[in-house]
Amino acid sequence: MSFHLEATDGPARAGTLTLAHGVVQTPAFMPVGTAATVKALAPRDLIEMGAQIVLANTYHLWLRPGLETIVAAGGLHKFMAWERPILTDSGGFQVFSLESRRELDDDGVTFRSHLDGSTHRFTPENVVAFQETVGVDIAMALDVCVRLPADEATLRDSVRRTTEWAKRCAEAWKARDKTLLFGITQGGLDQTLRTQSANELIPLDLPGYAIGGLSVGESRDATESMMRFAAATLPPQKPRYLMGVGTVRDVILAVDSGVDMFDCVYPTRCGRNGRAMTRKGELHIKNAAFTRDFSPLDPDCDCQVCTTYTRAYLSHLFRAGEMLAAQLLSYHNVYVLVRLMRDARSAIIRHEWDQFKDSLVTL
Ligand SMILES: [Zn+2]
Repeated sequence: MSFHLEATDGPARAGTLTLAHGVVQTPAFMPVGTAATVKALAPRDLIEMGAQIVLANTYHLWLRPGLETIVAAGGLHKFMAWERPILTDSGGFQVFSLESRRELDDDGVTFRSHLDGSTHRFTPENVVAFQETVGVDIAMALDVCVRLPADEATLRDSVRRTTEWAKRCAEAWKARDKTLLFGITQGGLDQTLRTQSANELIPLDLPGYAIGGLSVGESRDATESMMRFAAATLPPQKPRYLMGVGTVRDVILAVDSGVDMFDCVYPTRCGRNGRAMTRKGELHIKNAAFTRDFSPLDPDCDCQVCTTYTRAYLSHLFRAGEMLAAQLLSYHNVYVLVRLMRDARSAIIRHEWDQFKDSLVTL
């Protein structure tokens, strides 16, 4: 397992990440399969559109179906019938979103399930063990994520615990031949704390590093300037992963900051709500203007939805509450980001990144 940087063009990077279940060419968008399924999309859809890796969530899988079922199935890949790489989030973000239903201490975090109120406990050690046992390609260290805006003491505390927990995750990490462990940096919008967080994690020499704690309530401009700053604090020879970002504009700006990997529920959530993403902006398919529009959803897209169906038909499916509506729009939206990253990669390799970026960031 390795990461090889093939080309750079300014801060933008094209690399190859070789994992136990296959190769991920970066920059790469990772569709989110929270509960071991990318909502409304079957694995064959994801393969067809060229998705190289999917994300699943430790928090959700821990609660349902639980470790025993996934182990009995022969691991997460077999359970969800997905043979390509999988990354699991550590559950830190989900647990900290529970707020009133969790209690944090230096050893770990105790929380109550959003499903049935049952009590569970995450520690750095058991979260790494869970991810290794289900057999994912990339496991994430347990971090302490805070909602922004946050005061300095809260941010400082989250950086301190995130570092301590990352050290314990690194100690607990055993299955090094099949599961890579990535660290997560925190620090909110505070440059000093972001630098401190990176400087404390880099000596652990983990195979990759993520920028966590962004897109959690701050303004878009603040996300953008902090992603640039935070990406530059991470080691250039290792993959960089920006968590929770997934609009066309944000992903392009992140690639332009030197980030290699992204994930977000945005494209599938938009798909279920009737919003279609395009490189030129978004359209609401339920809009009355589309009821007699027999042109493709996105004339610039070559996905099987855009080459098969019309806006009028998709608009009708949404108005009629048909299941196919969410499937087709989710397919198109995920395809837009997968294709965008494929094109971004070739532009970086051709040293035409600036032209490519400028043709897009007009949104
Ligand atoms: Zn399309």
